[in-house]
Amino acid sequence: MLGQLLLATSRSALVRRSVTGFPLTRKVVDRFVAGETAGQARDAVERLSDMKLAVTVDHLGEETLDAGAAAATAKAYVTLLEELRPLRLGDRAEVSVKLSAVGQRLDEAMALGHAREICAAAAAGGSSVTLDMEDHTTVDSTLRILRALREDHPSTGVAIQAYLLRGEDDCHELAGEGSRVRLVKGAYREPASVAHQSKAAVDRAYVRCLRILMAGKGYPMVATHDDRLIAVTELLADRFGRAIGDYEYQMLYGIRTDRQQALAGAGHTVRVYVPYGDDWYGYFMRRLAERPANVAFFLRALGGK
Ligand code: FAD
Repeated sequence: MLGQLLLATSRSALVRRSVTGFPLTRKVVDRFVAGETAGQARDAVERLSDMKLAVTVDHLGEETLDAGAAAATAKAYVTLLEELRPLRLGDRAEVSVKLSAVGQRLDEAMALGHAREICAAAAAGGSSVTLDMEDHTTVDSTLRILRALREDHPSTGVAIQAYLLRGEDDCHELAGEGSRVRLVKGAYREPASVAHQSKAAVDRAYVRCLRILMAGKGYPMVATHDDRLIAVTELLADRFGRAIGDYEYQMLYGIRTDRQQALAGAGHTVRVYVPYGDDWYGYFMRRLAERPANVAFFLRALGGK
């Protein structure tokens, strides 16, 4: 219930103004966001890399209807990738892109053009791009853009949301040789006509999708903090003869850091999703919605504790 309310307010301009204007909010946001500048993102990447963690960096921002803002976001990614290049991390430092931030809602061709620029900048450093998945109305367009990008940059990945009723079909489509699929539960508020609603149904759908990807020929990126799903991943890896390195785990910056390090210590590739930038409101509200304890943490910090 609280989660649904927070997801609804993640789109409210009024709440956005009140929350972002409150000085102490920053302290809480820092737990989930690596900073505001490309330099701060690079510092976080270096710290995580020293801990044997791979990264995918997200320049925060979503849903622009302004061509100038879309171009500025693409430029911010190119600048970030230039900033990361001297670290020589290759594909251990990739980027995640929300296509709505580079103009997808305005003009699909524009978003594809900007995504191409970002893919080229990533490729220059031996790295690649994963497309985030946003609300269900964007899925077909995102997959069209993915197919176009993969013609020149075959390692471009995409997130698939297990809560969507179409998730299993999309996993079948994308389980082929060379594909990189990040499987997530899904973070948006979606109607029952397109998405499983209960946590149990979403978890079961995640396992079905995971099975398809692990049985396939692509590279599954298992993005979850859920211990039960990590255990299922290990069983499926065993069953389908996938060695460590034939799949990877992904988790969000600041969430279950102990688990991230334990998995990396056991030899797994663990990639941390590192968001940075000043447009953190939507991302932050989705993280609060996932876990009531985060709301308590937020309120305590606002109270100065
Ligand atoms: P949950 O059942 O939500 O959580 C399992 C356990 O993990 C919880 O019990 C708790 O211990 C811990 N946990 C989970 N979330 C939090 C939190 N916010 N704070 C503290 N502890 C927490 N969603 C999209 O819709 N599109 C995307 O492109 C996308 N990309 C993602 C990329 C990565 C690398 C990751 C890890 C997630 C991404 N997500 C994306 C979000 C995803 O859909 C889920 O909302 C999120 O991962 C929580 O689901 P979970 O699998 O961790 O399971």
